[in-house]
Amino acid sequence: MKAQELPLRKCVACNCMKPKNELFRVVRLPEGIQLDPSYKGQGRGAYVCRNLECIALAQKKKSFNRALKCAVSDDVLNSLYMELENGSR
Ligand SMILES: [Zn+2]
Repeated sequence: MKAQELPLRKCVACNCMKPKNELFRVVRLPEGIQLDPSYKGQGRGAYVCRNLECIALAQKKKSFNRALKCAVSDDVLNSLYMELENGSR
């Protein structure tokens, strides 16, 4: 697959369009909001760049609350920070 054929998604913090493999997906499930590492979770999703700045900005601006139309707890944001740490090689 060529790079430009990857579907683009918008970061909720900086509003950049990026291939989804450069973004984290957060999904709203009946049981709550969670990180969706598979990008396949059913439900409303929101994306953020895989970098500290965008996650912190999304947290500050409460961008996920707006994108997912419900309150997103700091637990979710903490899981993004952790994923970023674990995933950075
Ligand atoms: Zn971003």
